[in-house]
Amino acid sequence: MSDCCSAPGLLPFEQALANMLAQVSPVTETLTLAIDQALHYVLAQDIASPLNVPPHDNSAMDGYAFALGSFTANKILTLVGRSMAGAPFQGVCQAGECIRIMTGAKMPDCCDSVEMQENVSADGEQITFLQDKSFGCHVRNAGEDIQLGQQVLQLGKKLTAVDIGVLASLGVAEVKVYRKLKVALIATGDELKLPGQTLRVGDIYESNSFVLAAMLQKLHVDVIDFGIIEDDFSAIKSAFISADEQADAVISSGGVSVGDADYTKTVLDELGEIAFWKIAMKPGKPFAFGKLANSLFFGLPGNPVSALVTFHQLALVALTKMQNAQPLKRTHLTVKCSTDLRKSPGRMDFQRGVLAINSQGENIVSSTGAQGSGILSSLAKANCYIILPSEQGKVAAGEMVTVQLFDQFL
Ligand code: AMP
Ligand code: MG
Repeated sequence: MSDCCSAPGLLPFEQALANMLAQVSPVTETLTLAIDQALHYVLAQDIASPLNVPPHDNSAMDGYAFALGSFTANKILTLVGRSMAGAPFQGVCQAGECIRIMTGAKMPDCCDSVEMQENVSADGEQITFLQDKSFGCHVRNAGEDIQLGQQVLQLGKKLTAVDIGVLASLGVAEVKVYRKLKVALIATGDELKLPGQTLRVGDIYESNSFVLAAMLQKLHVDVIDFGIIEDDFSAIKSAFISADEQADAVISSGGVSVGDADYTKTVLDELGEIAFWKIAMKPGKPFAFGKLANSLFFGLPGNPVSALVTFHQLALVALTKMQNAQPLKRTHLTVKCSTDLRKSPGRMDFQRGVLAINSQGENIVSSTGAQGSGILSSLAKANCYIILPSEQGKVAAGEMVTVQLFDQFL
């Protein structure tokens, strides 16, 4: 089927993503962790506050607490006690009296306002207030940060450093989280060598597993790296079987565009239900997705830019759902493009751009230059994608385009 947005035989990007997400089941197993072990895990419970934060009205200043109603015309009050952080004033003060108070100390029940110490003159027990005061000044109210029972963090929240601090501030010592995913990585190709090895004529260095493993670390999954598997039927088959046994998801790169030495398709046809898609996106047209016996399978194209972009735009979205995490939020802006962009209608382009602010203070995006799917440096220079819809043709400098800012994974 083809429409205005797709070339014949190509699967529109949004359709590929939706098909994929429809087949993803989130993990259900949970574990309970101490909060200092829970960074980047996905919460498996809602967190409602068990208390008011702060738990009691307290002073925002080092100074003197008093009841505004008992303020005397001469603004002189008598000091009758102290309230320190952790050691509150226990007594009751009368009209004309005040209490020495420190930052964070509980407000005495008999007081409603605080004057900072810089604005009084103290002579023994006689405290002269140098300025007029208003009710409640310099008092932090109970619950002004978080109220008792208030929903603070939601199921599906991937815990950040700040979240860990918030949990501590609520007195929550442990949280229920979803277990980490296990993701297997397989690079296929006889031409691939590891960094540190010597290249023979015709060889190249393997880079896909390195960039994918790094991005998977940021996603907070356990990576099982199968390294480089040669273009050999039985080697590929045993790697896929072993990966499927150990992992929740298996990600391979290379071998999905049907060439002579590409055994991946034959192996996958034997081991699972895998669809070989031609997605209407650039880079990244060939992409395989489906189910092995135990795991989900993502077959990324071999070209480094294609592998990275399809991983970022498709596989990462699916893995996020599998983790039970809230969907990734990506930021799109419409900005002026300062360079011409080559494009023919038929596929959605994820070109690499540099977004900057020009001398007039406008957001402006420029191309990183050559956009070949093997040119990994085009991604290294970029800070955004320039996303051009399928039906769009070339872009002239000065036209408006949509950019998607790079997120924490790139
Ligand atoms: P393939 O899909 O296997 O035909 O690979 C397409 C292109 O990507 C070829 O130029 C491969 O050499 C290259 N390639 C495949 N896998 C990798 C990898 N893991 N790292 C870097 N380049 C790769
Ligand atoms: Mg290959």
